[in-house]
Amino acid sequence: MDFAIPEEYIQFRDSVYHFSRDRLAPRAEALDLEGTFGWDNWRDMADMGLLGLPFPEEYGGSQASPLATCLAMEAMAHAGVDSGTTLSWGAHTILCGVPIWLLGSEDQKKRYLPKLASGEWIGGFGLTEPGSGSDAAAMKTTAVKRGDRWILNGSKMFITNGPIGQVFIVFAVTDKTAGNKGISAFIVEKSFPGFSAGKELKKMGHRTSPTSELVFDQCEVPEENLLGPLHLGFLAVGKETLEWERSCMIAPIVGGMEFLLEQCIAYAKNRRQFGQPIAQFQAIQQKLANMKVALEASRWLIYRVAWLKEQGRSAMLEASIAKLFVTERMLKVVDDAVQIFGGYGYIHEYPVERAYRDAKLGTIGAGTSEVQKMIIIREMMKRYVRSLS
Ligand SMILES: Cc1cc2nc3c(=O)[nH]c(=O)nc-3n(C[C@H](O)[C@H](O)[C@H](O)COP(=O)(O)OP(=O)(O)OC[C@H]3O[C@@H](n4cnc5c(N)ncnc54)[C@H](O)[C@@H]3O)c2cc1C
Repeated sequence: MDFAIPEEYIQFRDSVYHFSRDRLAPRAEALDLEGTFGWDNWRDMADMGLLGLPFPEEYGGSQASPLATCLAMEAMAHAGVDSGTTLSWGAHTILCGVPIWLLGSEDQKKRYLPKLASGEWIGGFGLTEPGSGSDAAAMKTTAVKRGDRWILNGSKMFITNGPIGQVFIVFAVTDKTAGNKGISAFIVEKSFPGFSAGKELKKMGHRTSPTSELVFDQCEVPEENLLGPLHLGFLAVGKETLEWERSCMIAPIVGGMEFLLEQCIAYAKNRRQFGQPIAQFQAIQQKLANMKVALEASRWLIYRVAWLKEQGRSAMLEASIAKLFVTERMLKVVDDAVQIFGGYGYIHEYPVERAYRDAKLGTIGAGTSEVQKMIIIREMMKRYVRSLS
């Protein structure tokens, strides 16, 4: 067993940390307060090679492994970059780009990945609908073949990058009799006739990441934009990308924990009450110790998922365990952080307030905590049944 991270990965992580601290983090507070997407951040991230991080170099990517991608995203949040920026990155690179890279035809990869990697286009992922979230396969959006086009009708809800994206992976029912084996994936461009994005939804947190509904009204999608196997797109995209999502897109939460811990230590050493720094009080020290334990445990759970992926091994169980643990523990970490800051923790100027609002999405998006527990039970039972029989 080797817990050492290769030196070149550490150098890469440090370079992303310094870039994020110097270029992106200083913009976080203003963008969050305005509730606007950080276009300058996006351009800087493209220049740094972050928008196509895991894609192969031939498509404009940086060919980073799952662990290197996790380290980069952790470093970005550790530097104080807001969660909206890392969420928009995740929807673009992991949810939109990775399925095209892993399931797309050569033509699809050539057409879309360089544009995503360069940031010229912004990507997103449309699975959730107004009436179906956890039970995603109960979707109502349909796709019917007409000549050389698929005609999509329906809508998708809560879509990250919806108001600003040019291309989306969209799921639609292609065989109503087959349940989750009758759902296909399509690459849908904003310019396709019949596509529209709803108005931006106002949110509790992640305010720099625009979210909206997507509407398909007789939307015409060329047949060559079917992604992956007909009828099996839902299962194929899930199989190929869920572990990416539940490691790389959760890694910023780990970086956020470290950022908060550093902020809290600095504040507790400086803030004096009853004639001494509040860091001297055991009640504060215990909160800091709990934060450190949450950080270390979360970090290694995420790295394990990335490591299993690098070995080409299934990590469905480990990914759900990591997603559940990290996102639930973050709720306690942000709560303790605001408590340590006292009244100042409730004020916009301090990043702990933003982190508190941002943290809740973790236990809802990409499969709620309840759904993760359902997956854990299912996967765990399979393994125990195998090992006991
Ligand atoms: C800011 C934001 C960004 C998002 N971005 C995207 C995106 O880019 N693309 C996309 O497709 N989706 C996106 N989503 C949607 C997100 O993935 C869903 O909100 C999430 O999957 C939960 O679905 P739901 O909201 O419909 O809740 P529901 O499924 O209606 O769940 C409501 C509650 O019931 C619980 N529940 C449901 N079923 C069970 C069960 N069987 N047992 C026990 N409890 C259950 C849930 O855990 C939850 O507590 C985003 C959401 C938000 C808020």
